[in-house]
Amino acid sequence: MKLLYKNIAWTILALVAFSFVFSLIADYGAAPKALSLNELVAKINTGEVASIIVHDDTLDITLTDKTVMTAQKEGEAGLTETLKNYGVETAALQAVPITVEDRTGGRFWASVLIPTLLPVIAMIAIFWFIFRQAKGGQSQAFSFGKASVKLFASDKDSVTFKDVAGLKETKQELEEIVDFLKNPKKFIDMGARIPRGVLLMGAPGTGKTLLARAVAGESNVPFFHISASEFVEMFVGVGASRTRDAFATAKKSAPSILFIDEIDAIGRQRGTGMGGGHDEREQTLNQILVEMDGFERDTQVIVLAATNRADVLDEALLRPGRFDRRITLDNPDINDREAILKIHSKDKPLEKTADLRKVATRTPGFSGADLANLMNEAAIYAARNNRQSVLQSDIYNSIEKVLMGPERRGKAVSAKEREITAYHEAGHALVAASLKNSDPVHKVSIVSRGYAGGYTMKLPLEDEHLRTRSQFMADLAMMLGGYAAEEAMFGEMSTGASNDLQKVSDLARRLVTHYGMSEKLGPITFGKSTDMIMLGREFGGDKNYSETMATQIDEEVRSFIARGYATAKKIISTRKKALEAVAKALLEKEVLEQEEFNAVIAPFKLKPLLA
Ligand code: ADP
Ligand code: MG
Ligand code: ZN
Repeated sequence: MKLLYKNIAWTILALVAFSFVFSLIADYGAAPKALSLNELVAKINTGEVASIIVHDDTLDITLTDKTVMTAQKEGEAGLTETLKNYGVETAALQAVPITVEDRTGGRFWASVLIPTLLPVIAMIAIFWFIFRQAKGGQSQAFSFGKASVKLFASDKDSVTFKDVAGLKETKQELEEIVDFLKNPKKFIDMGARIPRGVLLMGAPGTGKTLLARAVAGESNVPFFHISASEFVEMFVGVGASRTRDAFATAKKSAPSILFIDEIDAIGRQRGTGMGGGHDEREQTLNQILVEMDGFERDTQVIVLAATNRADVLDEALLRPGRFDRRITLDNPDINDREAILKIHSKDKPLEKTADLRKVATRTPGFSGADLANLMNEAAIYAARNNRQSVLQSDIYNSIEKVLMGPERRGKAVSAKEREITAYHEAGHALVAASLKNSDPVHKVSIVSRGYAGGYTMKLPLEDEHLRTRSQFMADLAMMLGGYAAEEAMFGEMSTGASNDLQKVSDLARRLVTHYGMSEKLGPITFGKSTDMIMLGREFGGDKNYSETMATQIDEEVRSFIARGYATAKKIISTRKKALEAVAKALLEKEVLEQEEFNAVIAPFKLKPLLA
C-alpha cells in the first residue's frame, strides 16, 4: 500500500515535469516568426522567398535560407490579389511556388492531435506501469507458499570467526561443521553420520546470529537464512508450505546450510493452546520435523537454528536426528567482554589511556550486543562533545546510559526532591558499604536517568555464577536502604522507593520458591518457572502446592523482607552521621565515584556488619 502511494506521488511529479517540458517545446515549435504582409511582399520582391504554403488564411513561408515564417492574409480576398494590393512585383511573385493545402490533411491533424494526445498517452503509460507494479506486489502477497529464503551475500560485509570474540567452545563445534561441509567424504568414509541440526541457544545478544553469519563466511557453501517468524503469516497452511520450499531450495544447492533464526517462534511446545494460531505453528513445526527426517543419509544440508528460549522448545525438535547438537552461548565473562570491547573499538579512535579491561570489570551481565551498543554510545557521546578520541569517561558514562537510559540533567527537580533523593541514595550506599557480604559501591548519583531519580551502582568484585544466601540477605537490606533512610530522615516515605520495593518483593519470593533458602520451608521449589506460566501451563490449574502452603510462602517472603528492612534500619539509625555526610556530598557534587564515596565515609571508620 505504501508502495502504491509512493508510486502515485511519483506519477504526479512526473506528469507535472512532463507537461512543463512539453509546454516549453510546444511553444517553441509553434512560434516561427510572424511576418506582416508588407514585410512578406518586400521579401518576395527581393527574391528571398523560396515557397509559400497556404492553409486557409495562414501562410507558411519558407525563405531561400530555409528559415520558416508565417503570415496571415485577409480573409475574403485571394492570396495573389492581396499581395498585389500590397504592391508585389508580378515577376517576382511568379517565381515563388505557391501551394494551397487542404486543412483536413494529415499535417493538420498531427498538429492538432499530438499536443493533446501525447500527455494522455504518457499518462496511460505511467498508470499501466504502476498497476503492473502493484499487481507484482499483490502477486507476491499471494505467493504464500514460497519462502523468502535469502542467500547470504558471501563477500561483502562477510563475517568470519575472527569477528566473534570469546565463545571458544562454540566456535570449535561450529568449525567441525564447517570442516564437514568442506570435506564430507572424510567423514562419510569413516561411517560417521552427518549432523543434521545444530541448535544455538543463548540469551538475546549473545551472538547467535553473528556466529551463524560467521559460519556462512567460513564455509564456502551456499547459506540460506530465514527467520522463523516469516514462516507464520496471516494464512493457515502457509508455514508448512514455506518450510517445504525452504528445505527444497537448500537441498537443491547442497552441500549447503539452512539457518532458521528465532526458531522458538514456531518450535514451541505443542498443545499449550495459548495465544491462538497454535495450529499453524504446529503444522509448521511438524513440517520441519518431516523435512529433517526425510534427509537421506548423505544429504549434505545442515540445519542451523538459533533460539533464546530453548526451554520452551518442543521435545520433538531435540530428538536425535534432528537438532541433536545443541550449543549454549553464555553471556561473556570478563576476558570475553574485554575481547568484544576490543573488536567493537577497532574503528573508533580511543584515547591512549583508555582501559578496556576496566570497562569489562564494570559490565558484568552485559551481553555481546550490550557491549557493542556501549562502544557505539561512547563514540556518539565523544563526537557530540567534539572530541578527537573516545575517553574512558565517555565509555563509563555510556555504561550507565545503556543500563538505565539517558541522563536527564535538565529535568526540573525541586530542592526538596533533590534532598530526598540524596538521602535515599545515601541510604542505599551506606547500607551496602556497611555489610560484609554486599558488593562494593561503584558509584552513587542523584542525576536522574531514565525513570530513576538517582542510582547507586554496586558491582561484584568478580564474575559470579553462584550467589549465597548471605549475599542475598545483604542485597535485600541494601535495596531497602533508600526506604529506611527516607523514613529516618523525613518521617515518611516517597514514591521514589516503589521500584526498590518491587525488586525486593521479587527477590524475596524467588529465595523462598526457587532457591529453597527459607529455613522453615526447606529445600523445595514451588510453582513452575515463569516461562511455564507464560506458556499457559499454570492456567491449567497445575499449581503444585496447596492453599495452606501458599499462605506459608507468603509469610516466609514477608519474613525475609522484614529481616532485610530491620538490618537497613539498624544501619541507618546507628550511622546517621555517615548518612548525612554522604547525602551532603551528593547534594554538592551530584555524582560520587567509588574513591570519592570511600573518602566521604572513611572518617567514620565503619565496621563491616553481617546482614
Ligand atoms: P543474538 O544472539 O540475539 O542473535 P546477535 O548475534 O544478533 O545476537 O548479536 C548482536 C550484536 O552483538 C552482533 O551484531 C555483534 O555486534 C555483537 N556481538 C554479540 N556477541 C559478540 C561476540 N562474541 N563478539 C563480537 N561481537 C558480538
Ligand atoms: Mg539473533
Ligand atoms: Zn532506591
